[in-house]
Amino acid sequence: MPMQHHDSPILDPHWEGYELARDDTHRYVWIWMGFNIRLIALSLSDDAFGYDHGWCYARDVELVTKAVAEWDPDTQDEPMGWHKRPTWPTRQAPRRDENPDYNRARCEHGSYFLDNGCRVLNCRDIREHEDRAHAKGPA
Ligand SMILES: [Zn+2]
Repeated sequence: MPMQHHDSPILDPHWEGYELARDDTHRYVWIWMGFNIRLIALSLSDDAFGYDHGWCYARDVELVTKAVAEWDPDTQDEPMGWHKRPTWPTRQAPRRDENPDYNRARCEHGSYFLDNGCRVLNCRDIREHEDRAHAKGPA
């Protein structure tokens, strides 16, 4: 089943947030989180221990709504427009091979860091990437 987008968000009383869409495996719900909005992916079969994936957005309901509306979770690992990924491991779309450009590696701040770097000073993903490259030595 491809992503089903709701015409209007569905209130989720447990998470005190709004479900924007769902697919075969997950519900996609945004919640207030301090100064941010967090989009969370809740497993349909087992959400007893929380959510599988999360992405932090600016406190802008339109921004997260648009990001989910434009996202195809079948072929795209993650939505766009967030500034922090608080969860691990990174989500992998079931048919991610169909969209290799979109699915290039992104750091925890949402940047395609291997091409564009990251605006965050001392981005951990860049440091770890450089450490690995260094450990391997010259090719
Ligand atoms: Zn980064």
